[in-house]
Amino acid sequence: MSNPSLLILAGDGIGPEVMAEVKRVIDWYGTKRDMVFDVSEDLVGGCAYDKHGTPLHDDTMAKAQEVDAVLLGAVGGPQYDDLDFSLKPERGLLRLRKEMDLFSNLRPAQCFDALADFSSLKRDVVAGLDIMIVRELTSGVYFGEPRGIHTEGNERVGINTQRYTESEIARVARSAFELARRRSNKVCSMEKANVMESGVLWRQVVTEVHQKEYQDVELSHMYADAGAMQLCRWPKQFDVIVTDNLFGDLLSDAAAMLTGSLGMLPSASLGLPMANGRPKALYEPVHGSAPDIAGQGKANPIACILSFAMALRYSFDAGSEADRLEQAVERVLADGARTADLLGPEDGTPISTTVMGDRILAALDASL
Ligand code: NAD
Repeated sequence: MSNPSLLILAGDGIGPEVMAEVKRVIDWYGTKRDMVFDVSEDLVGGCAYDKHGTPLHDDTMAKAQEVDAVLLGAVGGPQYDDLDFSLKPERGLLRLRKEMDLFSNLRPAQCFDALADFSSLKRDVVAGLDIMIVRELTSGVYFGEPRGIHTEGNERVGINTQRYTESEIARVARSAFELARRRSNKVCSMEKANVMESGVLWRQVVTEVHQKEYQDVELSHMYADAGAMQLCRWPKQFDVIVTDNLFGDLLSDAAAMLTGSLGMLPSASLGLPMANGRPKALYEPVHGSAPDIAGQGKANPIACILSFAMALRYSFDAGSEADRLEQAVERVLADGARTADLLGPEDGTPISTTVMGDRILAALDASL
């Protein structure tokens, strides 16, 4: 059998810096665990615009469709702010998500014990937190028609439409139930069925999919506003939360902040299974290109490294190797290694991006 294939799109700003550490981790798996990946690299975002005049070249898009998984760093930067909307670096990322039909966005909110005091919530509320928000990514109010700003009589009206089909709801619900089976087997579905018809349908379809295919998984429903309160009050009551594009956008950002720094947060966007059974997949840190610290060796590579751990788990069926990598990160943090984003003003000296990579590789070695 051929090696699994990865396309690396490091992107702009700190993207190449954090991805350099991921490449060392990928090499470690090749030499120490006999898990060899066929890795290719290409451009996305501002660097692709600089070379090709477009944030994602058609050839790159075609490669992304062929590989087993795409790893992305970050895109964007102030030098591209004045470009036409269609040429902005972020359009490259949106094109990837759209053409790969990545409808299921997985955003874990995991609080490493060593960082519990970094959260804005009390230690006992967040320590050991491990929840997953599954956000529908390709439909809902961000895409629904009609949309726009029109003039009615003597004033302007802004319109967006929340629209979901049964099949769009069913496929993201399945993705959440499948995920729950690999975790603590609980799904909470969030919508606003009390005031929105799309929410009524969402609740009906999630319930039907559960009844027909996933009765072994515990399912509950919550209005999204109540869910937001519960996430801040006692987030550990949740395992997997599944919700639509708009509520998922808000709830996943809120949940992310429970855990401290943007430099710690990975994500996965998954689509339908390909011929080899693996889902179409793109893994990326939640953070952007951080132009304020780019090129200074200050970036925290952990979000990008944990995104690769998600790839091991969700694309390559290597859950125990993903555990190994996550535990290596946990050990390094417990030993006090901190990049600047993980330190308060009087908390000592930060280590660089590369030294954080060194420490994680040493912890991986120690795990053997
Ligand atoms: P950002 O996430 O790049 O940075 C926000 C803050 O967090 C900055 O102070 C930054 O220094 C810090 N930060 C982010 N990642 C870090 C890391 N790994 N280690 C240490 N500190 C880190 O968001 P922004 O400043 O709003 O946006 C900058 C650019 O990135 C913009 O062009 C924006 O459009 C783009 N962006 C891209 C993505 C993406 O590629 N998925 C996501 C968000 C923003």
